[in-house]
Amino acid sequence: MKAEIIAIGSELLGPQKIDTNSLYLTEKLNRLGIQVVRKTVVGDDPGRLEDAFLSAISRSDLVISTGGLGPTRDDITRDVLAKALGLSMALDNDVLEKLKQRYRARGTAFQQNSTKQAYVIEGAEPIPNGPGAAPGTYLENNGTVLVLLPGVPREMRYMMESFVLSRLRDRWQLPVPVSVTMNFAGIPESVIDQRLRKFDFSARGVEFAILASLRRVQVILTGKDSTCVEEMAVRVKNEFPEGFYSEGDRFLEEVVLEQLKAAGKTVAVAESCTGGFLGKTLTDIPGSSAVFLGGLIAYQNEAKTRFLGVPEEIIAADGAVSHAVAKGMAAGVRKAFGSGFGIGITGVAGPDASEEKPAGLVYIAVSTGKGDDVKEFHFAGNREMVRLQSVTAALNLLRLSIFGNGGGR
Ligand code: ATP
Ligand code: MG
Repeated sequence: MKAEIIAIGSELLGPQKIDTNSLYLTEKLNRLGIQVVRKTVVGDDPGRLEDAFLSAISRSDLVISTGGLGPTRDDITRDVLAKALGLSMALDNDVLEKLKQRYRARGTAFQQNSTKQAYVIEGAEPIPNGPGAAPGTYLENNGTVLVLLPGVPREMRYMMESFVLSRLRDRWQLPVPVSVTMNFAGIPESVIDQRLRKFDFSARGVEFAILASLRRVQVILTGKDSTCVEEMAVRVKNEFPEGFYSEGDRFLEEVVLEQLKAAGKTVAVAESCTGGFLGKTLTDIPGSSAVFLGGLIAYQNEAKTRFLGVPEEIIAADGAVSHAVAKGMAAGVRKAFGSGFGIGITGVAGPDASEEKPAGLVYIAVSTGKGDDVKEFHFAGNREMVRLQSVTAALNLLRLSIFGNGGGR
């Protein structure tokens, strides 16, 4: 099974816009066991586009294009493909009616140029567009399946998930692979990878992939036999009982908030170098107000003393970026808010060193009333990356702390 992707749009050839649609498509196709063997980016030019289609069709079993399905003059994809294959186009009244309804629902007048989107290539099926107007096209020609999708990422994804994927599965009778994604925090990708080498995944027909970002490390196991995949997943989790925190798309902040709810505990945060990013991350999750009491951005030394009760002498002796100050901030914010857990973050976000301390040095403390946990981190990367890693590390320390004891309330 060989597939090709054609990304259409002159803007994709300029310096500003990057073709991300093909990455999404590749991931989805790979999961079906379809390999993408070539990608083409081509502008809104009829000759070059026809050329791209004809060569792709001559080589591959499946050709998926994105872009150029809209009503404007530079949207030429359908016309070009029909002409290339010598097929006619006919007005589809159902499609036209749906387009008109869409305009009516929005209270705008139907534009004549929109009629163009209701033309369907002979023998093709229009693919309904949930979030947008332009329908897609599904066509089989001499054994090659052709799929035309819109360029707008949201519309393209909608069509893949609601229509195309199940079609492709049926067309080639592809087995549905099972896959388990496990999320880890607090352990570097290299360590996870190294420790998992002792497992012979391929002997069990399981494919192993590891993906790391500043937020998490993901281990993805895929295979045809769900029992084998599940068994291997259990072994992976057991290898890192402290590091594993969720499966699938569940983010660390969701897990932490749920754990707090389950434990009947609350949290408040005192942030310096992250400037409110931890509070923002927690409040991104709906319903966080049940356990997140609030936070303080204590950026200058005076604020750390005045609002959090961190003694001036400690700041003078150890510096604002220090073990003792992180600990004082966490304890101070816990008292100020009356929360079960308090978190303190102080560090050098960079790019320059501060107080002769290097960029990326960050201290994070969790105060529980029964004890404190303070950790020193050396994060790499620019200012944004240091902040993001600080937030992730703080959430992870809180998670481990909820496991460990319990906090005040
Ligand atoms: P429309 O009906 O909106 O005109 P279309 O099918 O004609 O849809 P385009 O006009 O080519 O699509 O692109 C619409 C939007 O989608 C643009 O913002 C474009 O930058 C974006 N886009 C197009 N192709 C891609 C791609 N391959 N990757 C990421 N974004 C893309
Ligand atoms: Mg367009």
